[in-house]
Amino acid sequence: VPLIGRNLEDVERCPQCGIAKPLLEYKSHFSGKQASGTVVKVWFSYRCSSCGDLVGALGLVHSSKLHNFDPFGSSSTTAIWTIPPCASIDDDIPETPRRYLLQALNSINSPDGAIMLAGSAIDAMLKIKGYSDGSVFSRINQAVSDNVLTKGMSEWAHAVRLESNKPRHADLDDPHATSEMAKQTVAFAQALGEFLFALPARIERGKAASDKAAQHVE
Ligand SMILES: [Zn+2]
Repeated sequence: VPLIGRNLEDVERCPQCGIAKPLLEYKSHFSGKQASGTVVKVWFSYRCSSCGDLVGALGLVHSSKLHNFDPFGSSSTTAIWTIPPCASIDDDIPETPRRYLLQALNSINSPDGAIMLAGSAIDAMLKIKGYSDGSVFSRINQAVSDNVLTKGMSEWAHAVRLESNKPRHADLDDPHATSEMAKQTVAFAQALGEFLFALPARIERGKAASDKAAQHVE
């Protein structure tokens, strides 16, 4: 989680240029609207020393601290959101869905587009796993009965309703997705990638490392 301060800390890669351990220097901040009750949204702008581009970070600040707010004070706050998003996509997720996922994350502020891209990522991941026929739901259900996915994943898939069809079908009554729907759908797509590719790869590496260690003991 990025930490707001004189620099934006704990960012693995600059979300603009991708450089590792970027130096993101504070430039300015301004308060937005009340997030809830006594908490106010504050946006911070940072400049990447490598590419010179903007990274925005959203923090939540108690309204009583807003007057004379010192972004470098001891009360450092974590960024609940950055623009572009700092989340990195696991390298173990295959190229095609990984690229869709990255684009989905980077277009989260265009919810219709983000949802379509997340849908493409989900579709690509299921195809790679051999589920290419039928609707996304029927393929997910098949993956559950094959023990490739858990029941929880299919329940989640239904909960996010995979709104990807919505903007494409241009439902006249309610054609657009909200950014909240987009975030939920992209989060599901990311979790699916973790579940189908990243976690199994990590488990294989862990097993291999343990086997090697065990051989040394013998
Ligand atoms: Zn950069």
